[in-house]
Formats: sequence, C-alpha cells, structure tokens
Amino acid sequence: MISDLRANATRIRDRVTEAAERADRDPASVTIVAVSKTFPREDVNAAYDAGFRVFGENRVQEIREKYALPFPADLHIHMIGSLQTNKIGQLLPFIDVVETVDRLSLVEALQHQLERHHQQLEVMLEVNVSGEAQKAGVPSEDAGELLRAVIDAPNLVPVGFMTMAPFGADEATLRYVFRGLRNLRDRLQEETGMPLPALSMGMSNDFEIAIEEGATHVRIGRALFGERL
Ligand SMILES: *Cc1c(COP(=O)(O)O)cnc(C)c1O
Repeated sequence: MISDLRANATRIRDRVTEAAERADRDPASVTIVAVSKTFPREDVNAAYDAGFRVFGENRVQEIREKYALPFPADLHIHMIGSLQTNKIGQLLPFIDVVETVDRLSLVEALQHQLERHHQQLEVMLEVNVSGEAQKAGVPSEDAGELLRAVIDAPNLVPVGFMTMAPFGADEATLRYVFRGLRNLRDRLQEETGMPLPALSMGMSNDFEIAIEEGATHVRIGRALFGERL
C-alpha cells in the first residue's frame, strides 16, 4: 500500500540520517537503493513519487517486463543479482550500474556488448568478504586482479564495491564484513590510483551498521516495500 510506503520511507530516511550522524557523516553521502525486485511497476512509481531515484533489481526478464513502459530519465536501475553473460545485451538498455561484477568472463562479456552498443557502464565489484562457500562474489584475495581487468576494459567504469553480509549474522560479524570491504577498497584505491568511492553494503536488517562502517549505498527492499511474496 502506498500510504505504508510513504510511512516506511520517512522512517528509513530518519534512520539513515541518524546512523550517518553517529558516524560523523553527511546523510546525503548515503544513497538508498530501493530494492523493488518482485514488486510491480506501480510500487516503483509510488516509490519514485516518494522521492526515490535508484532502484535495485535482480532478474533480467523481470526488468525487461517491469520497465517496458517509459520511465523518467532520472530513475536509475542497479543490477544487484547474479548476471549470466548471455543476458547482457537484453539488460543494457535499462540499467545504469551493475553492482555484481564477480568474474573475469563477465568483465569480458560486458566489455564486448558495451563496445557494440557504444555505451559506457558503471560497475561495482561484488566481493565475498565473509568467505562463505555459498556466497556470491569474488574472493577478497582475487578482487585486485578483477579490478585491473575492469580498469583495462575501455567501456567499463569501476566505481566501487558491493557485498552481502552472511544472513542472520551478529553485529560483530556484520561490522567485520563491512569494515573488510572498506579496507579492501582503501587498499585497492591506493594501489591502482583509481577513485573507487562506492561501497554498497547493508540491507533492511543491517543498513545502519553498514552506514556506520562507511556504506555509500544501502540496498533496502522489505523495510520499504514490505515482505516479498
Ligand atoms: C533482495 C536484496 C536486497 C534487499 O534485501 P531486503 O532484506 O529486502 O532489504 C539487497 N541486496 C541484494 C543483493 C538483494 O538481492
């Protein structure tokens, strides 16, 4: 319901502001990525009307259907799901950022398609900071090599990093993971001389901790749109 969405939006913005202030950060330095996966276009439109401009989606087919009708030029879509190389061509017309670059074959396939379409694309590297076997993302120790491949790809613009914390982790583990991503970023930024400002970390359950640890993007679904069916 749209009235719920407006109330949720206000509450989330207040919590973002308070978390940023606790960390002596400017609340405006945190972008809320409204994770609208599984929710219909009407909910995206309602969130847009409530002031959200960045939306997170994780399935190519769903993106093509949901955004088939025209949308405002300042509505930006971030791909936050795992991406198969054979779907890239279908995805490119819709998205502004891929947050989930996790392997060399994806870098190569993105570069190939972007070149064909004469397009530049901002990307984040998804890193498996926690080292959980079933988690998506490049292992921390391989992130430098992957980053260099992105830097060498002329149509890809690296902007930073993304991670997912282990589900249901306690606060100490969450801080360890989020701080780990920030430290990795600091090191790779120093080594490559490439500005990598974006740290996409934190979801409905843990975004305040992520902001305290330096998140520039928090990906919030349920706390904004309600439970997914
Ligand atoms: C679904 C999803 C989110 C949002 O999770 P919520 O718990 O609904 O806030 C964030 N990031 C990724 C990668 C997701 O797939």
